[in-house]
Amino acid sequence: MPAPDAALIARKAEIVRALRRIVPGEGVVSEPEALVPFESDGLSAYRQTPLAVVLPETTQQVSEILKWCSAEGVKVVPRGAGTSLSGGALPLADGVVLGMAKFNRILEVDYANRCAVVQPGVTNLGVTHAVEADGFYYAPDPSSQIACTIGGNVAENSGGVHCLKYGLTTNNLLGCELVLMNGEVVRLGGKGFDAAGYDLLGVVTGSEGLLGVVTEVTVRILPKPETAKALLLGFPLVEAAGATVGDIIAAGIIPAGLEMMDNPAIRAAEAFVGAGYPVDAAALLIVELDGPEAECAELTGHVRALASARGADFVRVSHSEAERLAFWAGRKAAFPAVGRIAPDYYCMDGTIPRGKLPQVLSAMSEMARSYGLGVANVFHAGDGNLHPLILYDADKPGELEKAEAFGAEILKLCVAVGGVLTGEHGVGVEKRDLMGTMFDPTDLACQQRVKCAFDPALLLNPGKVFPTLHRCAELGRMHVHRGKLAFPDLPRF
Ligand SMILES: Cc1cc2nc3c(=O)[nH]c(=O)nc-3n(C[C@H](O)[C@H](O)[C@H](O)COP(=O)(O)OP(=O)(O)OC[C@H]3O[C@@H](n4cnc5c(N)ncnc54)[C@H](O)[C@@H]3O)c2cc1C
Repeated sequence: MPAPDAALIARKAEIVRALRRIVPGEGVVSEPEALVPFESDGLSAYRQTPLAVVLPETTQQVSEILKWCSAEGVKVVPRGAGTSLSGGALPLADGVVLGMAKFNRILEVDYANRCAVVQPGVTNLGVTHAVEADGFYYAPDPSSQIACTIGGNVAENSGGVHCLKYGLTTNNLLGCELVLMNGEVVRLGGKGFDAAGYDLLGVVTGSEGLLGVVTEVTVRILPKPETAKALLLGFPLVEAAGATVGDIIAAGIIPAGLEMMDNPAIRAAEAFVGAGYPVDAAALLIVELDGPEAECAELTGHVRALASARGADFVRVSHSEAERLAFWAGRKAAFPAVGRIAPDYYCMDGTIPRGKLPQVLSAMSEMARSYGLGVANVFHAGDGNLHPLILYDADKPGELEKAEAFGAEILKLCVAVGGVLTGEHGVGVEKRDLMGTMFDPTDLACQQRVKCAFDPALLLNPGKVFPTLHRCAELGRMHVHRGKLAFPDLPRF
């Protein structure tokens, strides 16, 4: 992370006083012991106590906070529920955490326009809860949906098991209200898909809190499908399960969910949840088919046949809603389940072309052997989005570094086979230094110029996503006249 600014840290009392003027009462946290819960996010290997935490309740307060911080050169880290797995909400020693937890209201459900307008601190599952009694739901469903916020989902462009068919956050987001670092409040999109002008909503989705603070979100809601069935398909060979994924898609079937778990993940989930998984299988596919009853029945038969042709020796089809949910319960609890079999795990997130699954899975087993670390795989197979969980013990000297090196090698392999560094967890601090394996310096400079257009002083969530910090002036054209540099007082690094 960038070296903290001692002068800013020395101004803590003054900064806290100014924040309290904007958010009175209990809205500012500054005592060392009260700051502990904000020290890290879901990437708990990295920790940092923030200078202070501010918990606003209105857009007006967010605007005033950012305006003041902008004028005073104070850095700001936006935070939702703190479940990011890439360190996106990791605080800065010389920065303020802007927590959005109090923005927790559903503002409007508009069935005529099939959308819901919600505050960013509403949980992902909270959106579905608000509309399910009327037969609707919000489709993107991260496994963390019980806790993660919709604002965090927008910032990370989060996905989930149902995103293969229904799209990621970006495909289900219609509009948002955003406060820029200078305090300006802007609205992007609306209730329809077709907004005028540049797709700025697309630019902001997945921007990891670097461009603005989301203070209101409008999402698409969908009617619940008439029927949904889940299949459990166990295979004696990982490669056969990987090949079946390709066969299903090639047959023209887009399941509502198509997930894969390897043997260590199957065993951990079964021991934790008792979902009825085959503990001796080398790999398990969970396939969900939804739609009209007749279509579901037809597709179920088709998928069963494809799996049998690849040697599946365990097949179960859910016969009730309770059974379907039980099949998914193991998958949804797979991360905490793996947390029970190793003192620590490091969750990676790379995406590869589906056809490369067998090759990449066997390469990862090789790497695990050479690093001497365990790995459990549980992932969105239909999207080619891998989530290897590297098992390690942080108390053993050198193991975290080994896990990080192993993870970096996996991500480089993803890029080498034609994939990308992240599927849904974002870059954050975790993959920041690997950005150069995917983007060349020109690509990175172009991305940073977008950042500069929104936040020219680089005060919003600095140290995340970009491997090298540039002053915005460095990215624009600079005219050096007779050897004299413009703005010579500007620090350069
Ligand atoms: C057990 C577990 C399972 C998970 N499963 C999935 C999964 O299936 N799919 C998936 O995609 N992710 C998953 N995640 C990752 C995580 O839940 C998502 O990235 C989620 O969107 C983060 O939301 P949050 O509210 O916790 O955001 P935080 O962790 O608080 O922040 C994440 C990023 O968003 C920014 N941010 C937060 N709120 C705002 C806002 N209002 N305005 C601007 N920027 C903001 C932060 O600065 C940070 O960069 C999982 C995490 C865990 C711990």
